[in-house]
Amino acid sequence: MNKNTENTFVKLLAEELEYIDLCFVYSTQARIAVRIDNGQYTIIWDECYWKYYRKYLLAVGTARKNKMAVTQAVTAVMAEHLSERFSTFIDLSSFLGKIASQFGIAPNLTSEETDRTETRIFIAKIFSVFHEIAHIRIAQKDTAALKTKDIIFHMFSHVQKEHFASLDEWADLHFHMVQEILEGKHEEILEELMADVYAAGKTAVYLKEIFGYVNFTLLCESVAGIGYLSGFQNLFNVVTRSWDGHYTEIRFGLDPRPREIDPYINELETARSGLGRIMTVTLLLSRFELSDQQRFEAWKYHDEEHVKTSTAMDCLSSEEFICTAIQEAGRSGF
Ligand SMILES: [Zn+2]
Repeated sequence: MNKNTENTFVKLLAEELEYIDLCFVYSTQARIAVRIDNGQYTIIWDECYWKYYRKYLLAVGTARKNKMAVTQAVTAVMAEHLSERFSTFIDLSSFLGKIASQFGIAPNLTSEETDRTETRIFIAKIFSVFHEIAHIRIAQKDTAALKTKDIIFHMFSHVQKEHFASLDEWADLHFHMVQEILEGKHEEILEELMADVYAAGKTAVYLKEIFGYVNFTLLCESVAGIGYLSGFQNLFNVVTRSWDGHYTEIRFGLDPRPREIDPYINELETARSGLGRIMTVTLLLSRFELSDQQRFEAWKYHDEEHVKTSTAMDCLSSEEFICTAIQEAGRSGF
């Protein structure tokens, strides 16, 4: 990844940002989002989010290379984020920081592996900025953005259960959600998927523009970068939502009380993320001339690189864990 490549992208991006402000911030909320103010659209680009996405990739890469537990490495990255997120509450923050340092592993990658990681981050950022632009274009009733809905309905009407076989225990959930979206349910999730489809198309165009020629290796790294981002986002959203739900208790030092959690909310998030990822990869690959063998290999690479985050997610977002952590941190008075 050289500076020229990035500069080309910034130049091209400027043309896409007509009537849109891009605002770089660093906040512990770590959110990439769109803000609307008097008809002016601003994309909030939080560098804190990307800091943890980079840590996540480095942790997963190092753990796999050294045959260490990926779940622990991923848990440590999220605990480190939570420690920063709640940094104003010193006891809790240092409690979480201890978990992070106990399970965390120092990145240990060759320069070649680091380069590959940077390429994945770069591609994830391209995808992500177009995902946000898509939300704005949908709100502006832009024809190209709205047409993504037809693409989704077309794809979904051909979906069969066995397409989700690789998702194991999640296959039913995904298939069920496809049916419900076809019935007109889940409007918010449909918009997320529309934004993914829009971003997949733009990413394909821009990869060609920026790199001149997209060889098969770069295409596979793009697929991996998008896959990693989707998994990270899913983990990040579920865990931070669970913790933010206890903000009042943390803020006022009250006894933490487990909340009644509707597991369906997290399931929706997981299905949304899985469907978005599968559609994005399918569409991205369809924009390049590939043999059947190459298409097969690209998917194989995607599946091999896929990070199973469900254990880390279940642990860090469990009500029991959160309440114990808040209580222990308060009691021990670090
Ligand atoms: Zn979105």
